[in-house]
Amino acid sequence: MQLGDQQASDNVEDRRGIGMGGGLGIGGIVVAVIAYFLGFDPSTVINVAEQVGSQRETREAPKGAPKDEMGQFVAKVLGSTEAVWTKIFQQSKGQYRPPTLVLYDGQVRSGCGVAQSAMGPFYCPNDEKLYIDLSFFRQLQDRFRAPGDFAQAYVIAHEVGHHVQKLNGTMQQMETARGPQSNQISVRLELQADCYAGIWGHYAGAMKQLDAGDVDEALNAAVAIGDDRIQKQMQGHVVPEAFTHGSSAQRLRWLKRGLDSGRPQDCDTFGSGSV
Ligand SMILES: [Zn+2]
Repeated sequence: MQLGDQQASDNVEDRRGIGMGGGLGIGGIVVAVIAYFLGFDPSTVINVAEQVGSQRETREAPKGAPKDEMGQFVAKVLGSTEAVWTKIFQQSKGQYRPPTLVLYDGQVRSGCGVAQSAMGPFYCPNDEKLYIDLSFFRQLQDRFRAPGDFAQAYVIAHEVGHHVQKLNGTMQQMETARGPQSNQISVRLELQADCYAGIWGHYAGAMKQLDAGDVDEALNAAVAIGDDRIQKQMQGHVVPEAFTHGSSAQRLRWLKRGLDSGRPQDCDTFGSGSV
């Protein structure tokens, strides 16, 4: 990526090195890891973590763009998403309220309960914050074989996509509609967040922030974190009914759609019969 001219966002809370003390029991960690890799449902996973992680943070976290290289990268990607979504919201006479990105390591107390890095990056609608442990980026490269800075940016843009869903009301609508169709709704929310990540990527390209090969990095990452791919790795077989994020093919398709179109209305995963 070419982020030299991009202003770093100040909406970053740096909790790295602050920690929470305590530490989770082995059981808690195992449950959370499985729950995340088979698709992450914050309401169940975080409650499990809540029971085992108990102690509070003691120090105040610094706010603003961090100075280190990775912190700068994350703050610039966030700044880029703010520029894009502010413009898109303005076009429909809306106002974009940017989320805060929290960097942490190990575990963190969020507005959705205690979370830990094994769960991967997530968005908490209650406090409108994105939570990322940067060690996930190493996992993305080593474990999921999805290297590259734009693959990392896609992860951030996907969580920002969930924030957009909170702002435009989709998330609340779908939360109340949950029930027997719960997994189906979850898949459609996730695929829409992928598509929204693509929308950002579309404009990042227009702003000359992308290098040759960047788009392929993100597409490769989308394939690598598909539910079917992860299930196969974890349990040796695929259970489509248990999908919560969508298959590799679905994730690829919706990310690509966003990248190609740049129009949020093309990300209507709920309007189309099948995804
Ligand atoms: Zn998601």
